[in-house]
Amino acid sequence: MTLHQNLIAGEWVGGDGVANINPSNTADVVGEYARATADDAKAAIAAAKAAFPAWSRSGILERHAILKKTADEILARKDELGRLLSREEGKTLAEGIGETVRAGQIFEFFAGECLRLAGEVIPSVRPNIGVEITREPVGVVGIITPWNFPIAIPAWKIAPALCYGNTVVFKPAELVPGCSWAIVDILHRAGLPKGVLNLVMGKGSVVGQAMLDSPDVQAITFTGSVGTGKRVAAASVEHNRKFQLEMGGKNPFVVLDDADLSVAVEAAVNSAFFSTGQRCTASSRIIVTDGIHDRFVAAMGERMKGLVVDDALKPGTHIGPVVDQSQLNQDTDYITIGKKEGAKLAFGGELISRDTPGFYLEPALFTEATNEMRISREEIFGPVAAVIRVKDYEEALAVANDTPFGLSSGIATTSLKHATHFKRNAEAGMVMVNLPTAGVDFHVPFGGRKGSSYGPREQGKYAAEFYTIVKTAYTLA
Ligand code: ADP
Repeated sequence: MTLHQNLIAGEWVGGDGVANINPSNTADVVGEYARATADDAKAAIAAAKAAFPAWSRSGILERHAILKKTADEILARKDELGRLLSREEGKTLAEGIGETVRAGQIFEFFAGECLRLAGEVIPSVRPNIGVEITREPVGVVGIITPWNFPIAIPAWKIAPALCYGNTVVFKPAELVPGCSWAIVDILHRAGLPKGVLNLVMGKGSVVGQAMLDSPDVQAITFTGSVGTGKRVAAASVEHNRKFQLEMGGKNPFVVLDDADLSVAVEAAVNSAFFSTGQRCTASSRIIVTDGIHDRFVAAMGERMKGLVVDDALKPGTHIGPVVDQSQLNQDTDYITIGKKEGAKLAFGGELISRDTPGFYLEPALFTEATNEMRISREEIFGPVAAVIRVKDYEEALAVANDTPFGLSSGIATTSLKHATHFKRNAEAGMVMVNLPTAGVDFHVPFGGRKGSSYGPREQGKYAAEFYTIVKTAYTLA
């Protein structure tokens, strides 16, 4: 089997490979991927540092052309790359292809942004002086990504980093190196000068830590767990570097008495269970007012009966496997915890076997949960959700906001008054009305509040806040 190597200073290097396993069929090895050492990470950082002066002054047309070529190749290979994604991560083929298309669109968007770089010219408060405000690249950007969006998250960090003239050291999650390797290969062949983008696949505690500890990394963008996010923050403060964190969520989805029942059920099922619930924007707290509660729960049960959990690559599968054994253990532990805490497991929650050995779990819905239970407070990151009964909108909003997190918040209602009030008062970075809590556009800001996020927003033109630093220049006329 071919070994997929790391890219350091424009060369594919590294020997010691690790198997990338398909969670739908653990007998299927997706590929062998090199594991970088701490020294590899240091070499990658040195290469990015050496490449920075030239790349930061490169022409916008050169950057545009490379990003556009990358977008075109990703989009042309969407079926193949989408299949690779589903095979290594376990989301369905439709979701895998959809995410790949999104990655292509992100590169296309930032290819355009290169041509729209602009500053401001402002008169000084003093006579005969002009003030110019410009944006400059930050330097070497460290990119650390999680396993749940193997192509979209790398794309939404790499594309703006390169667009604004930074050089990159990129460490993808150990579980899903395949899509990351593929996009680095595409960017490399699209003509990136050596050292501008370096790939170091491997362990967070080794490769990631070496990035955190380096004084030559000027910015780190991280998506992953709260625990690791805190380490990124502490190390970055120590080095006086910019950092941006996207961490967990415990996103509420409110259903009011006046909701359209089918809209509410579709949005709740999508929020809680699609992508096997493994999205930081997934909803695992479904907060339902008294008047619709019993009808909503019955309709959820009916809808859940129709969900097919199977091999991610099989046509007809709605929900693929959980990503690996340790995540599956976490999910089933929370199901046990929920029962012990007194919530009622109304539907699903059983381990199931399919034709191939994989990590298959029936979506689980608890009822009679309270917002104080651990299943309502801690991120589970699997197809496990709980319904919390409340008396009215005011209580629903209070419960929705009573969480340490604040990424996404949804409501199903036909009341303009409640929808408007909720948009204004939900303590979240993103608010969804009659839509799932997950599922966002690629050209607008993404990010959360409270314990979910730190630093500027990602995606769209707002990405410039993180990937550039502002300079103010004064000139005597
Ligand atoms: P999860 O695996 O639950 O998504 P993690 O925070 O463990 O969340 O992983 C997110 C990313 O952070 C992965 O690429 C992982 O390898 C990396 N990572 C883990 N530990 C460290 C660390 N000590 N320093 C830097 N990166 C790390």
